[in-house]
Formats: sequence, structure tokens, C-alpha cells
Amino acid sequence: MPVPTDEVERRVSQLATSLRGSGLRLTHQRLEVAREIAADESHPDVETIYRGVRKRVPTISLDTVYRTVAALVDLGLVGRVNENPGPTRYDANRERHHHYVCTRCGLIRDVYSDTLNGIEAPEQVSGLGTVESVRVHLRGVCKTCERKGNDSER
Ligand SMILES: [Zn+2]
Ligand SMILES: [Zn+2]
Repeated sequence: MPVPTDEVERRVSQLATSLRGSGLRLTHQRLEVAREIAADESHPDVETIYRGVRKRVPTISLDTVYRTVAALVDLGLVGRVNENPGPTRYDANRERHHHYVCTRCGLIRDVYSDTLNGIEAPEQVSGLGTVESVRVHLRGVCKTCERKGNDSER
């Protein structure tokens, strides 16, 4: 399920505006890295972003991708996701959302829910410190992995 084109364009223009505002030069390569993250709902890691951008910009280096992603994270435009062991994944969706995570294949999908948004931190947490956000991680086995599991049992 790809991110809808108008949503990708909205995210890319947001990223471009903020990059420009930060004083970072908005090169074609940086913009393509931003586009790749914005269009990929899978929460890609750097290698995956690199493979995607290379299809459009064959001359781009892995190093440029690393540095651009790091800059986008520093600017708060892209979030780091560490739901699973393995390389850090990146998230260009800045809307309030939660994550569904497959514990077998590492799939990460965005989940929108007013019910989950409404969850309040328990009283006991106030003893630990302030709470800025509450994010729910739903873990389980995705449909694809479930199907694979059933096939191998036969
Ligand atoms: Zn899975
Ligand atoms: Zn997400």
C-alpha cells in the first residue's frame, strides 16, 4: 500500500521548506532522499533508502544518503524508529500515529486511532518525570508471515 501521491508531495514540500529554512543547501540529491523516505510507508533503513534513490539518481553515494538522513533527523523532520533489532529505520510521517510491528519479518505499519491517542500516562509516571507523548507499539505476526508459517507446517 503506497503512500498516496498527494500526501508524498505534501510531505516533500514540507521537508523542502524546512531544509531551506535550516540553511542547508537544497540539492537535487537531498531532495530525492527526502522524497524516498516520504514515499515509503515501510519505514525504510538507510540501505533501503539508498537502493530506492539510486534508481532515480544513479550517481548518489551511500555516504550522501547517510548524511542527508542524519540532517533530516537533526531537524526533526524525520523520526528514528527502533522497534526491532537490526538497523535503525526512518519515518517521515509526522502525524500522530502508533506502530504495528511484525516480530518475525520486522514489518512496521502506521496505525491511526483516536482510542490509542486518548491513552493517558498512569499516575505513577509523574514520579519518574514529565510525559511528552504516548505511543503504542502493537506487536504480532503479520498476515504474510502467518501465511508462510502455515505453508511450512503442511
Ligand atoms: Zn511479518
Ligand atoms: Zn510510523
